[in-house]
Amino acid sequence: MPYKHLRDKRAYDRRYRRENIMSRHRDRAHLANRRYGSPKLIAADVAAVFANRANCYYCDAPVDSWSGTLEHIDAALGNSPSNLTVACPPCNNGKNNRPKSIWLKRLATRGIRHEDLPDSMPVQRRML
Ligand SMILES: [Zn+2]
Repeated sequence: MPYKHLRDKRAYDRRYRRENIMSRHRDRAHLANRRYGSPKLIAADVAAVFANRANCYYCDAPVDSWSGTLEHIDAALGNSPSNLTVACPPCNNGKNNRPKSIWLKRLATRGIRHEDLPDSMPVQRRML
């Protein structure tokens, strides 16, 4: 443990994430392009999606641009801008290729109602 205090590590992590966020967005764009083909995304497209959201689209869990995942709401619509949002990793992995309605039903069985969530408008953005 090279850090004397945990706060030193946290400060290092924050700085690392701030300085490397675009390469993370570039990776996300690359994976989305490989999986969905066109239209092609670049890192700035992904950054714009993440800039609009600080919470998971499905369950409202807080996510930041480092921990969140790029979500394609309808797998058939691919990379079109209106189809992109941010989800927490459990929602993105759990939903997989299923339609949004199926995933929301599953969340509802766990007591999460999408209707109660704030709209997909920008939420107070958490600073990295
Ligand atoms: Zn979620």
